[in-house]
Amino acid sequence: MKLSRILSNQNGVSRKQANALIAAGKIMVDGIICQEAAREINRFSEVTSQGRIVQPGEPSCYLMLHKPAGYLSATTDTVHQTVMELIDPHLHNDLHIAGRLDRASTGLLILTNDGTWSRRLTEPAIKMPKVYRVSTASAIAPETAKRFADGIWFAFEKLRTSPARLELLGPQEARVTIYEGRYHQVKRMFHAVGNRITALHREKMGDIQLDDRLSPGAYRCLTEEEIRSVR
Ligand code: URA
Repeated sequence: MKLSRILSNQNGVSRKQANALIAAGKIMVDGIICQEAAREINRFSEVTSQGRIVQPGEPSCYLMLHKPAGYLSATTDTVHQTVMELIDPHLHNDLHIAGRLDRASTGLLILTNDGTWSRRLTEPAIKMPKVYRVSTASAIAPETAKRFADGIWFAFEKLRTSPARLELLGPQEARVTIYEGRYHQVKRMFHAVGNRITALHREKMGDIQLDDRLSPGAYRCLTEEEIRSVR
């Protein structure tokens, strides 16, 4: 919501008065004077007017989890154990998953309560790179890298995937970078070239790398720098 709107939503403050307070430098957002009436303010920011709290700012939360195999990327499920069972309930606080991993997949999983932030990580239009290490059932054919770079046709969605990068690590092992995050995308790309994934591990999303000090099932808060890297 715009800053002027937050102020004028208070009893007895007109839009004109709100704009005057902002112009006079009486309004602070997260402890810094803000003189921009049109500034978009999210629910995590504290807004004060002449020292008085107008919006307290909700606590935001950004976590990286080393997802183990066998856990569903969901907040609840009646059959399978979910990744939420690995997170301290005190932190649950409206968390959602920013880019799911299949139940058998492992690696970097990011959870947050900040939907604006997580959309920048996951929206295909933003083209945030996601890096996976994969093992395959058969040898990776030499033309696979070119097929991925050209894009793979997904008939169900009627779209061609964005150019992806494949770096061969061994006859049946590769590092794959995709710039979207469509349903079972990496598995379907290998299926389209006649191969099958036997293991899939996410190493990185954007500039956020899975911390190698986290054992499977462990998690930590993202650093300020990691959070800022998505803004
Ligand atoms: N692509 C997949 O096929 N599975 C995942 O878990 C992530 C990306």
